[in-house]
Amino acid sequence: MRTQPYPTTSSQPATTSQPAIPARPAPALHLLHGLWIASCPSCGFQLATARSQQRCERRSARRLCPACHQDGS
Ligand SMILES: [Zn+2]
Repeated sequence: MRTQPYPTTSSQPATTSQPAIPARPAPALHLLHGLWIASCPSCGFQLATARSQQRCERRSARRLCPACHQDGS
């Protein structure tokens, strides 16, 4: 029987074992009146809004800023 240590996701951030990071920068998140808003870090275009930070991150991660990607990726 093999004993594997459980990955701890609480305190220490994994710095070396992360999967491929997308080239585009992460959207900027703002908490405004209890609503999370993800906006483009370059131009500030609002990409997504959500009640929770995680949802906002997921929604905005799937979106490309239409202002910064007009010419098609
Ligand atoms: Zn943009």
